[in-house]
Amino acid sequence: MSVLRLAIPSPLRRAFDYLPPAGMSEAQLHNLQPGSRVRVPFGRREVTGYLLGVEPDSDVPEKSLKAALAILDPVPLVNPRLLQLCYWAADYYHHPLGEVLKAIYPKRLRAGKTHQPLGTAGWRLTTHGLGLAPGALARSPRQAQTLTMLRERGTVKTAQLKDQGVSQAVLRSLRDKGLIEEAVVPMQAQPASSGQGLSLNPEQAIVISELLKAPAGFVCHLLEGVTGSGKTEIYLQLIADCLQRGQQALVLIPEIGLTPQTLNRFEQRFCANIAVFHSGLGDAQRYRAWEAARDGSAHIVIGTRSAIFTPLRNLGLIVVDEEHDGSYKQQDGFRYSARDVAVKRAQLEDCPILLGSATPSLESIHNALAGRYQHHRLTQRAGSGRMPTITTLDVRRQALQAGLSAALVSAIKDKLEAGQQALLFLNRRGYAPTLQCHDCGWIAECEACDARLTVHRRLRRLRCHHCGASRPLSRQCPHCHGNSLLAAGLGTEQTEEFLREQFSQWPVYRVDSDSMQGKDAMQDLVTEINKGEPCILLGTQMLTKGHHFPGVNLVAVIDTDAMLFSTDFRGEERMAQLLTQVAGRAGRADLPGSVMLQTHYPDHPALQAMLNCSYAQQAREQLARRQATGMPPAGQLLVLRTDCDDAECGEQFLQDLRDQTAADLPAGAAMIGPLPSPMQRRAGKFRSQLLLRAPNRRTAQAAAGLLVAVAETLPARRGLKWSIDIDPQDVF
Ligand code: ADP
Ligand code: ZN
Ligand code: ZN
Repeated sequence: MSVLRLAIPSPLRRAFDYLPPAGMSEAQLHNLQPGSRVRVPFGRREVTGYLLGVEPDSDVPEKSLKAALAILDPVPLVNPRLLQLCYWAADYYHHPLGEVLKAIYPKRLRAGKTHQPLGTAGWRLTTHGLGLAPGALARSPRQAQTLTMLRERGTVKTAQLKDQGVSQAVLRSLRDKGLIEEAVVPMQAQPASSGQGLSLNPEQAIVISELLKAPAGFVCHLLEGVTGSGKTEIYLQLIADCLQRGQQALVLIPEIGLTPQTLNRFEQRFCANIAVFHSGLGDAQRYRAWEAARDGSAHIVIGTRSAIFTPLRNLGLIVVDEEHDGSYKQQDGFRYSARDVAVKRAQLEDCPILLGSATPSLESIHNALAGRYQHHRLTQRAGSGRMPTITTLDVRRQALQAGLSAALVSAIKDKLEAGQQALLFLNRRGYAPTLQCHDCGWIAECEACDARLTVHRRLRRLRCHHCGASRPLSRQCPHCHGNSLLAAGLGTEQTEEFLREQFSQWPVYRVDSDSMQGKDAMQDLVTEINKGEPCILLGTQMLTKGHHFPGVNLVAVIDTDAMLFSTDFRGEERMAQLLTQVAGRAGRADLPGSVMLQTHYPDHPALQAMLNCSYAQQAREQLARRQATGMPPAGQLLVLRTDCDDAECGEQFLQDLRDQTAADLPAGAAMIGPLPSPMQRRAGKFRSQLLLRAPNRRTAQAAAGLLVAVAETLPARRGLKWSIDIDPQDVF
């Protein structure tokens, strides 16, 4: 008795067997291919499962098996290579396969709706209609004519039928007789073409020729090119080559804020159908983009993290821009790295992949140095731009106003008066990170997190930046009822207020997630700034990501010290990336720019390195330190996390897990913890973690398999939830 083996979205890491739907023949059964969606009863619900295979028998006795309700896709919608990728990802990230498969489909297909191809509404003959003898409808000549037309031309668009004088009434009566049915005339994929590229400078020309020379098939290329060196031009020319071969290109970018600018450059260069995926899409738009990628009518697919799982009919190239960016890692649920999945996908599709960044991750540099990736470099700015000079601004014993030293204020003034733009970086939004009572010392804290509330003066609210809790800002201390509440520390709102007073003749633009609401906000701002009028830009990390501001020629980091003493093992890597990216906004046109880092620690080795070494050199030195400590990419890490209403419960769970796996752990793997997470309580849940370090990937995978298998057998009390994170971004 054959059974359908299915992956079902559920926390259970196993497959489920079902009997075929009633009335299905053996022949139909054996024509089924993995990947088809199948509607099944599951517990008390009806869900969409994904076919893994038709198996000759089941471990479950036949009488306990339920029958599937319907096969939704007679032919799977995704190709075997994408399925393989999902199998790999579920295995590598130890995430339930059903959840992984579900994640690749748009909402309506997940919900079990029939697949609708893109195209135009039309009509065709039914089997019955096809079998009808000619002349059968002799008494209704209009109907007979319509049948003849459909017999000759297959599916015909409704609009064309109307043009030929076929009325709605005729179509309706033919349909009622079961002779014709509605159908979709599929989209015709038009060939794509590319406009003239820029004429390349010598460095770019070398890179392009190396890329085009590489053998067909899978190769991973790392393009390490300083900010403004013309990486995007390289992407465009490589994509042009891919389109010319008649294949599709997939481009990953880190943030939605980047989409409009990137999209413009693509639209200007290519005469092609470009499908864009980002979190701002509605369900219907997302479905159309997905389907266009799948049926091959989209030539280029551009998207953020999750776009890496887009089905593509004929993938010929993957580009991952800003490959070091933290947003490629999904931090909850299915915790995957889109960059790493992209490399695996290129391997399975046997196509080239290009990872690009001014500040590549140590992982990618490590792979390049080990010869696994082909390494390409752009060391000069393209066109006329020159690299900025970086200096520190010692603020010890200096009076600071809203975080700014007198020296910085006067540097900003000089630039504005010279008709130039200044960009100030402060990675903390809100007015002040703390509200304190001057009389009794009370501090406003979040009720659900181990965190202070941030003062948002303009909204007159206190907000938690970790769980989103929010409450009105009052003038009175709730503890002593005094009226001396003080906003302590610095946020962008406060500095903005000061700048507006100080520089009232010039516009001040604040750029953070509070001020940049709405999907066009960032694009509108970029357009405004790039008119080139003198102004001040003040913003958080949002400002540093890939935007081009040719008129900016002073960049200042207001609170450099906030980055200096991170306890995370990636702290110094992140700082070098962030400072290099911020600095990269300066001097992009013909004026040389300058970068000022305000600090109390001008002699700190990390800052000295910023002043004296390129990012490439800093990264290599950091890599040597990782090698010495066995941290990634020299070694492998994984974290098991719990979150729970009760502080002890989570830690006990992890302790039991540690005790029960210690004896069987593969040699070389070592566990650290359990320990409370750095912020133990968040959104009302207590969080703990158990860290595992291993010398190589194989050991880490074996240990992960063991931990997950044992964790699944442990009783989880009081709503405890656990998760595993392979290659975590943050651990301390
Ligand atoms: P990156 O992606 O490395 O930051 P871009 O590709 O955005 O760099 O290029 C930076 C600027 O230099 C852009 O304005 C781009 O139009 C220009 N540019 C790139 N390549 C060339 C070239 N070969 N000749 C002239 N200008 C170029
Ligand atoms: Zn008080
Ligand atoms: Zn909170």
